[in-house]
Amino acid sequence: MFEALIRTIPDHPQPGIQFRDITTLLQDKQGFAAAIDALAQAYAGHQFDKVVAMEARGFIIGAALAVRLGAGFVPARKPGKLPWATISQAYQLEYGSDALEVHEDAIAPGERILLVDDLIATGGTALAAVALVRQLGGVVEQAAFVINLPELGGMQQLASAGVHGFALCQFS
Ligand code: 5GP
Repeated sequence: MFEALIRTIPDHPQPGIQFRDITTLLQDKQGFAAAIDALAQAYAGHQFDKVVAMEARGFIIGAALAVRLGAGFVPARKPGKLPWATISQAYQLEYGSDALEVHEDAIAPGERILLVDDLIATGGTALAAVALVRQLGGVVEQAAFVINLPELGGMQQLASAGVHGFALCQFS
């Protein structure tokens, strides 16, 4: 169902990439609500202290879900964006590398964390977020995505790191 609301843009941002664009899902009032409902339903009965979501599209899904789940919200941002003292975790991209940062006081030891992003591909971004949470003593209980690209193996990478991931839909 959610697949039908996600636009595919061929050769974006570079030739050979099929970009899965969630703005078409977000602008559909029923679709956006249904996506947040479905994710909230997936975690009924779970208790999370905080949602940690990755810049930038993860913020949109993660903030809405945090409110529904009664959890706090922690943005994992690109370098240099957060105003207070941060910890940083670098990760590999297909070409080059990037990093994510969180405030060093964003998570207290033992807090139960739900990671949220719009899409998991290789899992590099999600694993960097796992490392940040663990560095602060948090416990990554689950990871939630709108889209999984199973051929890129990110869910297995997460599982190898001891984190169970769930996605609302997938594209092969
Ligand atoms: P990974 O680190 O798992 O290889 O890539 C996932 C990250 O890249 C996520 O933060 C996601 O927002 C972004 N990303 C990669 N490809 C796509 C895509 O086709 N569509 C969207 N919406 N995001 C993508």
